[in-house]
Amino acid sequence: MQTRERVRPCVGPWVVGAAIALALVVNACGAGPTPLPDAAGAAGWELIVLGRAQDAGIPHLGCTQAACIDRREGRLPAERVASLGLRNADTGQTFLFDATPDFRSQVHSLAGERPPDGIFLTHGHMGHYTGLLYLGRESMNAKQVPVYATARMGAFLTANGPWSQLVSLGNIALQPLAYDAAVTLGDGMQVTAFAVPHRDEFTDTVGFLIEGANKKALFIPDIDRWSRWNRDIRALVDSVDYAFLDGSFASADEIPGRSTVDIPHPMMSATRALLQGTRGELWFIHLNHTNPELNAADVVKDGQRFGM
Ligand SMILES: [Zn+2]
Ligand SMILES: [Zn+2]
Repeated sequence: MQTRERVRPCVGPWVVGAAIALALVVNACGAGPTPLPDAAGAAGWELIVLGRAQDAGIPHLGCTQAACIDRREGRLPAERVASLGLRNADTGQTFLFDATPDFRSQVHSLAGERPPDGIFLTHGHMGHYTGLLYLGRESMNAKQVPVYATARMGAFLTANGPWSQLVSLGNIALQPLAYDAAVTLGDGMQVTAFAVPHRDEFTDTVGFLIEGANKKALFIPDIDRWSRWNRDIRALVDSVDYAFLDGSFASADEIPGRSTVDIPHPMMSATRALLQGTRGELWFIHLNHTNPELNAADVVKDGQRFGM
């Protein structure tokens, strides 16, 4: 529904001949640990897609569908768990949205050998915070990496092992994240968390408004239903340039025996229909391993970049 020419999509290895180019492309598509090459002419802030799969990645453990088998056996690159990186080409600052089970390769893609300058967490489900463990004593033993978390998320990390050790040893430094209050990151960039309805067993759940000097973006990887939200998603998408939204399921057919009412995510088809004619570009992220629309034009690619 929107133009796509302002971004650099990941290119599949099938169109690349040179070995060096192939190495870069394999990385950009999500498999390799090499840092992303600097975008030619990049200046200021940009968002970088560092993964697009639902919490448990693709291949999914126990999955016997072709999409999983092809990736398990190396015919297709594995899909990293949904995450966005934010990088400033001028200052070298890097920020990560969510700490996934693919944290190691995502940090390496974004920031190389050092930890990011800050990590923003959406909520306490497997795909969104467990990667924090790689900052701990058995791994990087990082020092005071700022982790932006809501009061409930911060209390969960502080009160429950093994996360509590990251706090007590000072591997991470919790930064309070209040709803609807902007966090300024410098050079014209600010990030604002807002509450969204989701299965809140351990923590609350937020999405993010990411506002640069030139572009604005929404990041909502998990939400129960647009109709259960006290905000108007159409108005929000009208107010931004890019909307990275929950693409868990294309349709209820993916899960036999369950109707759409039982699945606590908006179907991609419903989201497309709802947002028809809005100003911002719609990009789906956080796709389940059952989702057959991984190659749809409005699904993000690992390594894709968006100038901010
Ligand atoms: Zn999730
Ligand atoms: Zn979740």
